[in-house]
Amino acid sequence: MPKTENWQWYVEQFAPTEQHHHAVARVYYAGRSQFQDIGIIETPVFGKMLILDGDTQSSQADERIYHEALVHPAMAGAPDCSEVLILGGGEGATLREVLRHPAVRRATMVDIDGEVVELSKQYLPEWSAGAFGEPRARVIIGDALKFLAEDKDRYGVIISDLTEPLEDSPSNPLFCDAVFRDIKNRLAPGGIYVLQASTAGFHNLSLHAKMARTLRKHYKHVASYYTHVPAFDNDWAFIACSDGVDLSRLDEGQIEPYCSELRGENFFYDAQTHRRIFALPLYLRRALAQGGETF
Ligand code: SAM
Repeated sequence: MPKTENWQWYVEQFAPTEQHHHAVARVYYAGRSQFQDIGIIETPVFGKMLILDGDTQSSQADERIYHEALVHPAMAGAPDCSEVLILGGGEGATLREVLRHPAVRRATMVDIDGEVVELSKQYLPEWSAGAFGEPRARVIIGDALKFLAEDKDRYGVIISDLTEPLEDSPSNPLFCDAVFRDIKNRLAPGGIYVLQASTAGFHNLSLHAKMARTLRKHYKHVASYYTHVPAFDNDWAFIACSDGVDLSRLDEGQIEPYCSELRGENFFYDAQTHRRIFALPLYLRRALAQGGETF
């Protein structure tokens, strides 16, 4: 390995005073779409990585941790997963995970940025693993906000795999009370809405807690869960919402049969992992119980 001073570095800036440096072995793509800055690089530890607006979206080495955590708890708990809607999800790995279940009749993915989708097909084909070409996949390039306003279908599972709602991100308008209500209206009875819900690091919980507080206005069960994602250098949180099912209470008797029906092998998710990711530490439970700002 060359000495560190000879490497170029991708620096992810978490906060004004916090950074993670990844050595760059190769740059596949660096440019700007109509909506965001796009980078596709390779790093020695994490392999290929997709970076949007300076934020790591997923890495080859550990994307299965993130995508299995996002998709499978909701799919395992949903009474009906024949119709699934994915908001965002550019790389196609969320679509891939959804389509692993044979009960899925149609998986609709709506991403605003056709360039992210095309670049992912070109440089990151391992992520979608053929999912874009599956007959059960319906891929729509468009704003999820507009889609939710116009679409009349109902979905047993809705998965939000959007970028962080930063001020200038195209996902920002989707994080508001009215849209959370619209999403609920698109759920079939007993359906589940799950979203990637920012960092759960003890030092930076405010955005996650704000999402959970807002969602509690709309759903009977709002369950936060999280896992460490090494490429993010962070604990990453998700929120599962439903009026019918409390996903934090899903047991082995439901999870194991669900997993055994999936095509191929899981890397991360099973009943034991489910218990671990829904068991929250005290500081997080306290932060979630506190009142405060909502969207
Ligand atoms: N794993 C990710 C993370 O850590 O933030 C999210 C994955 S995925 C790449 C995020 C996708 O959301 C991107 O492809 C982006 O184009 C899409 N997106 C952002 N705003 C959107 C909107 N308004 N409608 C549909 N897709 C949107």
